[in-house]
Amino acid sequence: MFRLSFLLVLLSIPILSGAADSSTNYQEEYQRQALAIYRDTIAMRTALGHGQVPVMAHYLADRFRDGGFDDDDIHVLPYELPNGEDVASLVVRWRGDASSGKRPILFAAHMDVVDALPTDWARDPFTLIEEDGYFFGRGTGDDKFGTTILTATFIRMKAEGFVPNRDLIIAFSGDEETDMLTIEDLASTHRALIDAEFALNADAGGGALGTDFSPIAYQVQAAEKTYVDFELVVKNPGGHSSRPRADNAIYELADALTKIRDYQFPVRHNDITLAYFAQRSMTEEGELGAAMRSFAEDPGNPKASAVLARSPSQVGITRTTCVATMLAAGHAINALPQTATANINCRIFPGISVTEVEAKLKEVIGNNEIEIRLTYKPKSAPASPLREDVIDAVTKAVKKLNGDMPIIPYMSTGATDGRALRSAGIPTYGTTGSFSRAEDSFAHGLNERVLVSSFYGALEHWKLVIQELAGQSP
Ligand SMILES: [Zn+2]
Repeated sequence: MFRLSFLLVLLSIPILSGAADSSTNYQEEYQRQALAIYRDTIAMRTALGHGQVPVMAHYLADRFRDGGFDDDDIHVLPYELPNGEDVASLVVRWRGDASSGKRPILFAAHMDVVDALPTDWARDPFTLIEEDGYFFGRGTGDDKFGTTILTATFIRMKAEGFVPNRDLIIAFSGDEETDMLTIEDLASTHRALIDAEFALNADAGGGALGTDFSPIAYQVQAAEKTYVDFELVVKNPGGHSSRPRADNAIYELADALTKIRDYQFPVRHNDITLAYFAQRSMTEEGELGAAMRSFAEDPGNPKASAVLARSPSQVGITRTTCVATMLAAGHAINALPQTATANINCRIFPGISVTEVEAKLKEVIGNNEIEIRLTYKPKSAPASPLREDVIDAVTKAVKKLNGDMPIIPYMSTGATDGRALRSAGIPTYGTTGSFSRAEDSFAHGLNERVLVSSFYGALEHWKLVIQELAGQSP
């Protein structure tokens, strides 16, 4: 009987069967429970300013309690944001039998969402709506997908009698989309609660599907660049525009910007980017594919890095980049400008400090009259080493459920909670267990959606990953 239902479950997951799938095909108890958690939490408007993050944290805490997790191992940790709003984190420890002698694994995701204006959406963003093989709603992907799948998987596996051979810890943050302070709070004040050998972050990575829903590759995020903004400021006494002078705030700023445009930061690499280019070169054709292959073999090859530098999607993986993104100057059409400012947005390669980049910009500009102000600076984080156990577990799960495809470690140019964990010394790997087509990616935007098949597939994916990393040896 058990065997039969197990087979049925497997048969109902040809995950990438396209959009024509429906929740009616997934009626196991754990699947219905996952859907209920997804629906209930998407209805909570956990965007900044709506005060719903603590509500969601307590709701999930109750699900864990109902699932038999010990009250002493469930922690809703309140946190006050700089704007005075109360948010929260949720930490849940699933105690293992310690038979592996290994330190815990952390499972991260975030409860908050980017806000969505109901008037702008075709469907209510805070109602989970299933339509034509998709789940629509704010957070269906980012990141109530992660919080739901992890919660449901812990509860399901505990109900099935699984006993981990090491502790497993859930850590859900409450302001990832804005200040990223709750994850910092977890990594510092509550370090003892979340300390782990490594973390899996269900808010990054995942599978890419082609337009016809065929799998292309599965990506695991193992590093992040540091996001930094600098403001360049030029001040000038100004004057009447009928009496122009050699010193002019706009010209000085323009000269500085031209120099930044013409400067390229030195080529950099790490284990993650070399593995990324080696894997990508197998599916990328032409000059770009050849450059990826050469770079993976020898990152010192100047021809290869020059080709990669011409590709907007690859240049950032080979070096620090800084680019002008905003400009403001002058106060009247007939006056010499008294102020000129520009924003320079930098994505700094792991291992390079913000101070180093600031000093380089100063040197490149070569004009002491131009002030450089750091307007946004998070902590930088090292790349995480490519752990064989993590890559193996993810690879096995992906291939068992979805067939053969390249598993590609990568460095992202944006920012997730993984940065704070890595900078706190916890190697972190972004893997959602979800699959999506490029044309279905609406995270942060309108009509965010996720494939129904991907939601139920991720439930199986995470179970396999946990069995592999924390299961009893046979
Ligand atoms: Zn996210």
